[in-house]
Amino acid sequence: MSKEKRLSLIVPVYYEEEVLPIAYPRMKAAMEQTGHDYEIIFVNDGSRDGTMRELRRIAAEDKRVKVLSFSRNFGHQLAVTAGMDRATGDALIIIDADLQDPPELIPDMVKLWEQGADIVYGQRKKREGETFFKKFTAACYYRLLTSMSAYPIPLDTGDFRLIGRNVADVFLKMREHGRFLRGMSAWMGFEAVPIEYVRHERAAGKTKYTLKKMLKLALDGITGFSTKPLTLPIAFGGAVTGLSLLGFLAVLICACTVGTAPWLWGLCGVVLLQGIILLCMGIQGAYLGRVFEESKARPLYIVAEELNTDPSSKAGK
Ligand code: UDP
Ligand code: MG
Repeated sequence: MSKEKRLSLIVPVYYEEEVLPIAYPRMKAAMEQTGHDYEIIFVNDGSRDGTMRELRRIAAEDKRVKVLSFSRNFGHQLAVTAGMDRATGDALIIIDADLQDPPELIPDMVKLWEQGADIVYGQRKKREGETFFKKFTAACYYRLLTSMSAYPIPLDTGDFRLIGRNVADVFLKMREHGRFLRGMSAWMGFEAVPIEYVRHERAAGKTKYTLKKMLKLALDGITGFSTKPLTLPIAFGGAVTGLSLLGFLAVLICACTVGTAPWLWGLCGVVLLQGIILLCMGIQGAYLGRVFEESKARPLYIVAEELNTDPSSKAGK
């Protein structure tokens, strides 16, 4: 097979000294099998164990291996982003270091890309060795996120995926700090094809995604892709205001007929004020949401394909 295409494998690593000696040979074998030219970019996300020693050893014997090492822990999503920034491939593949995502799937992902897919994402049909808590919270979270966001994220997916150069170039333009890559990928659209796999147990070591990191990622997912929580008080405020007006009416009718306790007027007044305050908060939220959307400075639109257009008209884009 001709080697005209180049692939970049991006591997974020955080305290993975035990996994690397097992993971690297499997990743290398999978890349060889694709028949394309390739590079493997390991991004050390501030590990202070023997991870860098392992990476130095691997890089010394294999010039296709590139290593970036962060000054401190910036988190998995930024480690992947740094790898994407440096990747020179026509297609980029993102994979965890711990072999939970099987590298042996890569040749099939590449085939789907060769057949025209822009994104090939791994979809877990089974998750082995993960706690009930993790699976349950993940299932609830993705359903919540899908109901809030206008860009549905396929269920049971992670960051294990292949993206074409066209998609990667759009990623490079999205410089928001709170990153949720699988959401950004859904936002972009393009021809995305799933590939099913069984997510195995970690090959060695423990998870590096602490509860705190998971919560941050979950929050980035919601706040990065939906401003609905900011405008929720409009609905609450509207309901409370409506109720208080009904209350006023009921008290008025009672006052004219059977008589009423004076404090009921006060109660209705307080509820009315609460409703108005909530409404105002929601309106402020709506404006804040706009400021937030603008501050992300995402591309306004993404052109996936052009036919017969004048190349000179692209100037300044
Ligand atoms: N990782 C990272 N920075 C972090 C946490 C994790 O680069 O702060 C890497 C980690 O080395 C692994 C991948 O991200 O390659 C996924 O992490 P992990 O397997 O611990 O998460 P889990 O699969 O348990 O959700
Ligand atoms: Mg893992």
